[in-house]
Amino acid sequence: SQARQRLVIGNWKMNGSLADNVELLEALRAGADVSADVAVCVPFPYLAQAQALLETSKVSWGAQDVSVHASGAYTGEVSTAMLSDFNCRWVLVGHSERRSYHGESSELVAQKAQAALQAGLVPVVCIGETLQEQEAGETADVIAAQLKPVLALGPQAVAKMVIAYEPVWAIGTGRTATPEQAQEVHALIRAALRELGAEQVQVLYGGSVKAANAASLFAMPDIDGALVGGASLVAEEFLRIAAA
Ligand code: PEP
Repeated sequence: SQARQRLVIGNWKMNGSLADNVELLEALRAGADVSADVAVCVPFPYLAQAQALLETSKVSWGAQDVSVHASGAYTGEVSTAMLSDFNCRWVLVGHSERRSYHGESSELVAQKAQAALQAGLVPVVCIGETLQEQEAGETADVIAAQLKPVLALGPQAVAKMVIAYEPVWAIGTGRTATPEQAQEVHALIRAALRELGAEQVQVLYGGSVKAANAASLFAMPDIDGALVGGASLVAEEFLRIAAA
């Protein structure tokens, strides 16, 4: 919205290869001359490549998950310090695919957000209801429950985060929330942030965002940008979203 900086973050999910990434990252580096902040969250093995190819550009980078533990016997985990080694700015926490396939609770997600903040990373806290929850009229309750342990970290912590509202039924389905539908939930999130004293937090929408629907979503008063999955794998499309 007006007072808050526009932010568009790409989530590559488990896609890419060292060879294929070069063209995409080069295109982002060359094309990201837009007023929005633009970032990509890439698979861990490609952080060094993203750093090397984006370092001198306007585009920042980050990871898609992080451990709550600092170091030690946690096989397969990646720490906040490791992300900082690659100059990450962002880390997604609580993406719906982590919640549903890896059983991540909202409490764990809040712990990950706190760990990220302590390392100087910006956690992008993902929340959103499933289709079943939406059809049962539970959206507001689900959003409140997912936010609760995050908001409990307090206004100073929350002020340094980004929230991404991603209705699960819109992720990767081609079925975007209408701008009005998204705005309704963003307004609830904004009200909770205002009540806490962190009203200026950027709240992104995610779920089948494309160049064709980005501008109408961004026109909404409480939508400050987008978290983009599929469309972030195509440089031209992703840059058109960032420019919308
Ligand atoms: C996502 O995974 O965060 C996402 C929004 O995916 P898509 O844009 O493909 O729906």
